[in-house]
Amino acid sequence: MQLDDFWSSQSKRNIEERIAALLNGDIEWRDVAGRVVSRAQLIAAFSGDFSEFENNHGLEFQEAMRSLVSTWIATGRNSNGIDAPWDRTYPSERIQTFWSRNSPYVYQAEDGRIHINFGSRHNPDSPSEWAQNLAESYFVRLLDSPRRECLSNCMKCGKYFVRVRQPKRGIPTRNGSFCLEHRDERKSRNIKDTRKIRKERLIELASRLAIQYAQQNPREAAQGWIARYMNREMLKNQRRYHWAAPVTPKWVTQNARAIREVIQAQ
Ligand SMILES: [Zn+2]
Repeated sequence: MQLDDFWSSQSKRNIEERIAALLNGDIEWRDVAGRVVSRAQLIAAFSGDFSEFENNHGLEFQEAMRSLVSTWIATGRNSNGIDAPWDRTYPSERIQTFWSRNSPYVYQAEDGRIHINFGSRHNPDSPSEWAQNLAESYFVRLLDSPRRECLSNCMKCGKYFVRVRQPKRGIPTRNGSFCLEHRDERKSRNIKDTRKIRKERLIELASRLAIQYAQQNPREAAQGWIARYMNREMLKNQRRYHWAAPVTPKWVTQNARAIREVIQAQ
């Protein structure tokens, strides 16, 4: 059995990358569609008016593609910025119509081998419908690609990108989906937030222990005692304190003022 495919193996490979590049305007629609549609096919379909098609309907193909892909990505997303690529859904009725128009056919060749032919069957009347049909033919391939979940768009600027690692099934991306540029921005903001929260929690812990120290009045310097109990508490609650390294008596000295302020505010 053999598959006769109107898609070259080249155009099936890295389909996510190529669609992302097309939708970002990094490559022209011809660079994608050219491999599926030959100039001769277009001339035959539109009685030679190829430049008219190129000028007006190439863009239409790109827009149809963008609409299909962005809607599909959006179905896996909620308004809180949680992205679950595995939960995406596609417009099944529309795709079913595509297949009923472009259904593959089976034939037995002279040598007796069975062939399944995936040639495009639909001959729309208008170039605009033709552009839609072409976009759908890409979209169905994308849906069949093993790496389809890697294709996403940036929640900030809308740019399309392809993740290197496949998102894990059942685990939504908590921090949303961002292009390289905005991912870095978000990451550095997260790191700053985490540091700030850690510092606040440490100061709060130190102030509680400082009060205990004053009540118990142990025979030990306050800085050393507070640091020791802080480390004990931090190890018990590593998540809460974003445990990184133990604090030193010197840290207690350096933050004495902030600790005092917290105690006074109570
Ligand atoms: Zn972005």
